[in-house]
Amino acid sequence: MEHLEFDDNIYDERLAGGKLDSPEIEAAVTRILKAVGEDPERDGLKRTPARVARMYAELLAGYNTDPNAIINDAIFEVKYDEMVIVRDIEFYSLCEHHMLPFMGRVHVAYIPRGKVVGLSKIPRIVDLYARRLQVQERMTRQVADLIRDLLDPQGVAVVVEALHLCMMMRGVQKHNARMTTSAMHGAFRANLATRQEFLENIGRETSPLKI
Ligand SMILES: [Zn+2]
Repeated sequence: MEHLEFDDNIYDERLAGGKLDSPEIEAAVTRILKAVGEDPERDGLKRTPARVARMYAELLAGYNTDPNAIINDAIFEVKYDEMVIVRDIEFYSLCEHHMLPFMGRVHVAYIPRGKVVGLSKIPRIVDLYARRLQVQERMTRQVADLIRDLLDPQGVAVVVEALHLCMMMRGVQKHNARMTTSAMHGAFRANLATRQEFLENIGRETSPLKI
């Protein structure tokens, strides 16, 4: 079994798209500042609309990122057919319900059927979908689906563990509300032992929430 760990959240600024309407974002942020009773002209806020617009260009770059540019021919033919696991991929996303961050870790496994992808590409695939307005369940599914479509593997599994600021800061304020989602295809869905091998590797005794 191949077992690799990633700590960093790889992000390639060259892939950040230019399609966001920055002047529109700046105007909207100025309106929000006024609407909450602030003075957009005071020193600390004067450049906030421009900063927020630049921030969204980065945090939402996934909309304008071409998956082919990420993969960039890093798919290789191999005879290897053991489970490949990439765990603890750090990610940051924005929930589409509140536009507040949710963040955590993604664990990915697949069993090749003749093709593997360069290992540095998997965190980039995660970022492709994390850097959008998201719900955790959809992000989990999108990562699994793209790997399935790219590699046609015997199986692919994705588990996402995340903390949602919209749950932690608002309402009932559950400060440790950790949400786990998973998406399984092929052998991971069909074969309990395969699924169990992956879940044990990423340190979960029991099956996480299925979606
Ligand atoms: Zn939310």
